[in-house]
Amino acid sequence: MSTLEIKNLHVSVETNDGPKPILRGVDLTINSGEIHAIMGPNGSGKSTLAYSIAGHPKYTVVDGEVLLDGENVLEMSVDERARAGLFLAMQYPVEVPGVTVSNFLRTAKTAITGEAPALRQWVGDVKDAMGALRMDPEFAQRDVNHNFSGGEKKRHEILQMELLAPKFAVLDETDSGLDVDALRVVSEGVNRVHGNTGLGVMLITHYTRILQYIKPDHVHVFVEGRVAEQGGAELADQLEAEGYDKYLTATV
Ligand code: ADP
Ligand code: MG
Ligand code: MG
Repeated sequence: MSTLEIKNLHVSVETNDGPKPILRGVDLTINSGEIHAIMGPNGSGKSTLAYSIAGHPKYTVVDGEVLLDGENVLEMSVDERARAGLFLAMQYPVEVPGVTVSNFLRTAKTAITGEAPALRQWVGDVKDAMGALRMDPEFAQRDVNHNFSGGEKKRHEILQMELLAPKFAVLDETDSGLDVDALRVVSEGVNRVHGNTGLGVMLITHYTRILQYIKPDHVHVFVEGRVAEQGGAELADQLEAEGYDKYLTATV
C-alpha cells in the first residue's frame, strides 16, 4: 500500500510580470487502488497541480509538501520522481524527434527499474500492451509524438503507463480531443492497470464524460487554486447538472 499526500501546496508560476500565485493551499491524499477525479473550470490550476507534482521548472513551490510514502517528492529530480513510482501524463506532450516509441519505452523502463528489461520478455510485453490498446504494431517504430493524432498521443500515454507500472498516475485531461472509441480504449487501459496493479489515479478533467468509463472513488471540485468540495462519484453528476458557478467567488 502506497500513499501520495499533497499538503497545503502553494505554487506560483513564473510570468513576464514576475511570479503569479496559482495554487493556494491544496490538500489531497491518494492511496493505492483509489481513483480520484479532480474537476474544475478552465484556469482553476488543475494543470498547475499536475506540473508541480511533475517538477516542471516554470512552477515554484512556495509552501507545502508532496510526499510519496513519506518521501519528499519536491526534493526529487524529475527522473527520481519516475523511479519513485510517479507517472505524469501531460496535457501537451512533447515530440522526441529521432527516438522511436519502442526505444523510448525501453529506455524509460531501464531508467526506472535500473536495468534493461530482458529483450524477449519486453518485446512480448510491448506487443501485448499495444494489442490491448488496439494499436497497430507499426506504431512502435514511429518517432515519439511526431505527427501523432490526439488519440495516438493518449494511447501512447496509456501504453507508457501500462509498461512502466507506476504506483500513482496523474492524468491531465486524458479525455480531451478523444472520440468515443478512443475514449473507451484509453479508459479500459486505465481500468486495466488499476485493476491489475492497484495503481492510484489522479484523473484531472474538465468534463464528466470520461467518468462514465472510469469510476472515481472520490471527486474533488477544484476552484481558484484549491479544493472547494469533496465527495463521491455522485458529486460529478451534480457538477454535470449544475456546473461550477456556485463555487466561484462572486465578483461585481
Ligand atoms: P487549468 O488546467 O485548470 O485550466 P492551469 O493550471 O492551466 O489551469 O492555469 C491556472 C492559471 O495559471 C491560469 O490563470 C493560467 O493563465 C495561469 N498560468 C498557468 N501556466 C502559466 C504560465 N506558464 N504563464 C502564465 N500563466 C500561467
Ligand atoms: Mg477510495
Ligand atoms: Mg489544464
